[in-house]
Amino acid sequence: MNLVDRFLKYVSFDTQSDESTGVTPSTPKQMVFAEYLKAELEALGLEEITLDEHGYLFATLPSNVEKEVPVIGFISHMDTSPDMTGKDVSPRIVENYDGTDIALSAEGNIVLSPAQFPELLAHKGEDLIVTDGKTLLGADDKAGIAEIISAMEFLKEHPEIKHGKIRVGFNPDEEIGLGAHKFDVEKFGCEWAYTMDGGEVGELEFENFNAASAKIVFQGRNVHPGYAKNKMINSIRIAQRFIEMVPAQEAPEHTSGYEGFYHLIGVQGEVEQSTVSYIIRDHDRDKFEHRKKEMERFVARINAEYGETTATLEMRDQYYNMREKIEPVMHIIDVAFAAMEAVGVKPNVKPIRGGTDGAQLSFKGLPCPNIFAGGLNFHGRYEFIPVQSMEKAMAVIVKIAELVAAR
Ligand SMILES: [Zn+2]
Repeated sequence: MNLVDRFLKYVSFDTQSDESTGVTPSTPKQMVFAEYLKAELEALGLEEITLDEHGYLFATLPSNVEKEVPVIGFISHMDTSPDMTGKDVSPRIVENYDGTDIALSAEGNIVLSPAQFPELLAHKGEDLIVTDGKTLLGADDKAGIAEIISAMEFLKEHPEIKHGKIRVGFNPDEEIGLGAHKFDVEKFGCEWAYTMDGGEVGELEFENFNAASAKIVFQGRNVHPGYAKNKMINSIRIAQRFIEMVPAQEAPEHTSGYEGFYHLIGVQGEVEQSTVSYIIRDHDRDKFEHRKKEMERFVARINAEYGETTATLEMRDQYYNMREKIEPVMHIIDVAFAAMEAVGVKPNVKPIRGGTDGAQLSFKGLPCPNIFAGGLNFHGRYEFIPVQSMEKAMAVIVKIAELVAAR
């Protein structure tokens, strides 16, 4: 099977994850796909193939050199987003894309257009894999899996390319934030790894947000409104007062790049009790800590104004910026850079305004930057991937393997 056939086969599996089930993998259908991949890895002659009860599939391409070479890994996730169905994906290849609108659905009412998605124009003349407008495509992240497995097959078929031991890892439940959760870093046994889970060609990411969540509960006092004078305390009004203390410009809708924010994600209110929920994000660790301190300060101010136990704050760190784990091992970025340049890809380093499995893995002891897999418009019906982007990602994997052995 070639790279494209492999990808098309993979997206025929429905592997949508589900936040609500509380088990790993979150959906049994991910295990069905994992079993299929396991058989494929066996047929390709990879070694040390293991699939654990949580759906983590690992395998090894053995070294073909005598000398000591660091063991490295490539990782991608098997699940697709809960945001859009991934059942009965029916992809189509638009060959030699001419830069015009693409009618996705047979009825012609769902259109992938450069007017809404100007990034399409960067792929004129290429072959685009698109959906039929009814499902997502699943390039996130089955493109990564297809690229990794095709690269391993290519290395096996080309023993003249010298490389060390390569590990591959495929995990469930990335889309619900649990991909790294039960990932056995020790068993994976790599000095470092890369997730193949980015978008546009050239993307290389090793900085993500530091993240915390905060929930503030405001206690009021409900009294019959006819008898409420000097007795009632309306917790909704206190919540409103609190929301006004938090800088309104430091919100996702007003920030980009390295700017952090407080994101108000929920309000529930009655006179007696109200709750507001925030997520706090910042790339800079000091600024992140400062934002958390600010939350504490606002709560203290409310309590000074309305009485000691009026507001209670529950705040918890969610994940951290992997940069602090990558900085001491910058050669793993350098080699990815060099590999991209060697295969004609211009590296594009940018901060992730979110988290990644790689960040969690980095804090579990496996430094793990993220490299493009080539897909665009993730998590919806407009998702597409250029064949040429997949080929470039595969070439980067092969080149990294080669460069690590040549150091
Ligand atoms: Zn992904």
